[in-house]
Amino acid sequence: MDKNKIFDALRTLAEKAASRVLVPADYTELCQSVNVRKMYYDIDLGYERYTDPRTHKLIIAEKMENNKILLYDEHVETELVMKYTYYYDDLEYVHAYIEFDPGVKKEDLDPDIYQFLADQVYLIVSRQNIRTMLDYAEYYDLQTSVPNISFFRRFYHDITKTVPAANYAVIFANLRNYKYINQTAGVRTGDELMVKFAHTVMDYAKADECVCRMGGDNYVMLIKKENLQDVIQRLDTIKIGGLASAPGKEFTLSPWLGIAPIEDDGITINVRVEQASVACSLGKHQLKRSVVYYDNDLAAMMKRAREITAMFRPAVASHEFTPFFQPKVNMLTGELVGLEALCRWKHDGSYIYPDRFIPVLDRQGLIHDLDMTILDETCAAIRRWLDMGLTPPRVSFNISRKNLFVPDIEHKILDIIQKHGISTDALEIEITETAKEDEIDRLKGFLAILKQNGLQIAIDDFGTGYSSLSLIHSISADVIKIDKSFVSALRLDNKSGILVETIIQIAERLEMDVIAEGVETADEGRALINMGCCNAQGYYYSRPVDFDSVTGIIRKNHFEPIN
Ligand code: C2E
Ligand code: CA
Ligand code: CA
Repeated sequence: MDKNKIFDALRTLAEKAASRVLVPADYTELCQSVNVRKMYYDIDLGYERYTDPRTHKLIIAEKMENNKILLYDEHVETELVMKYTYYYDDLEYVHAYIEFDPGVKKEDLDPDIYQFLADQVYLIVSRQNIRTMLDYAEYYDLQTSVPNISFFRRFYHDITKTVPAANYAVIFANLRNYKYINQTAGVRTGDELMVKFAHTVMDYAKADECVCRMGGDNYVMLIKKENLQDVIQRLDTIKIGGLASAPGKEFTLSPWLGIAPIEDDGITINVRVEQASVACSLGKHQLKRSVVYYDNDLAAMMKRAREITAMFRPAVASHEFTPFFQPKVNMLTGELVGLEALCRWKHDGSYIYPDRFIPVLDRQGLIHDLDMTILDETCAAIRRWLDMGLTPPRVSFNISRKNLFVPDIEHKILDIIQKHGISTDALEIEITETAKEDEIDRLKGFLAILKQNGLQIAIDDFGTGYSSLSLIHSISADVIKIDKSFVSALRLDNKSGILVETIIQIAERLEMDVIAEGVETADEGRALINMGCCNAQGYYYSRPVDFDSVTGIIRKNHFEPIN
């Protein structure tokens, strides 16, 4: 055996490995010079998943049945197998195997030479694999082995050299319910489902189109405009079954989609993806529409949202936010039974209404600051009425559910109230119902603490959410506010009457008070009284008004009863 020949062969191998992925033929020279017929190892870094997403073929190396990675094989019968062990962190990590020509006996081998050979091959292969893995991770999502956003960008730049960009649209897809499935079916099923979903949508794309995973449950697709409707339709409901971890089960996934058609306007692909993502999140959080296009209206809306976000903090600092107050009235007696504080933004001499800015602030994570400002101003107003010798009715304030995840929010609220030296029973908190599990837990704890401290609790917009009755019961709210959409529907048909009546009965059974919001006419008031709801808030009595006007209303404490 010629040592120099082995060194030369190893050097050639290392050189080749530096420039490209090795194939079995590269080992021929080396193996034949040392009577080796077969080489393999059992390092398992999950390489088997690194498949080409289009052909589903293994990218790295061929894998043998017993989980071994094959380097070289002459397909001849062998007798002698040498096994070399490599350690990592004191654990047996990899075994390299070398099989010899049947003529070779163990006694004939120079152990140092073969150990050296095995070591060198192991080093070359490891370095090569790490590099392949890094290359792979640069362009593929490791969990699903579909392309990632870098691949997507490269694909876009390559394809638009020959195909006009304006032939395409970008789709941003966010999986509805994925978190829920993950929680209920288990993480293993969730993972498997994600892989299968990824490959399913991969198949929707033609060769000149592209799909990538953006992390989490988000996907971005580059689709020809001529195929857009077809792909949107196929994405609408995707049924996935045959999972090893959930036999016999079928899952239905229906993503939220944001679509940004590409125009010849010089906008970069990154911004285009951002536009599609904005459209998607708008459909999910606000419009409740499965498919939203990024168009001029949406662009204008985004611009306004950016302006509002930029203006917000300075506006808080210069006290541009103030509460207006809307009376709550006992319709039978005409007595003022409560007030609701509703924020107004006074900017450049005119008022901006909450619908314009609340959803934006909520999305941007700024709503907490607003809610605390309005609570502070509301407590200050109550303090002033008390100092004027008036007895204002209980005043309610609105709290966005985003506050639930602000650390120690309960005590922030209580501290603000205490600062003004007023009692907690002068106040009521209005919060909307929720069906999200993580929110429900937080909501319960949050309301329990406030209630223990004497605050009254109202469930706002009741009937529009999806919370169960047992939830309403377990959070022991004091008041249910029937959403104004039901009250206005009373004008149109009788069916909503049944719904409203049911809500009132539920409230009665749970020993909670009810109040209807959005009462605009005496007829609506009368209908509500007949169904058993005597308290109302709405334009029929008064719009939300400023401090001075509501002070007059508190003084008078009387409205015309409805009979
Ligand atoms: P909301 O809590 O459901 O408040 C009732 C809304 O209905 C108020 O709109 C009120 O002006 C309006 N309204 C009252 N009576 C009638 C009526 O008879 N007919 C009609 N069509 N509407 C009536 P506003 O003041 O524009 O507030 C809109 C929403 O903004 C509120 O809905 C609430 O969700 C939110 N909001 C207001 N202030 C705050 C706040 O300080 N913090 C938070 N988080 N949200 C607030
Ligand atoms: Ca409210
Ligand atoms: Ca409402």
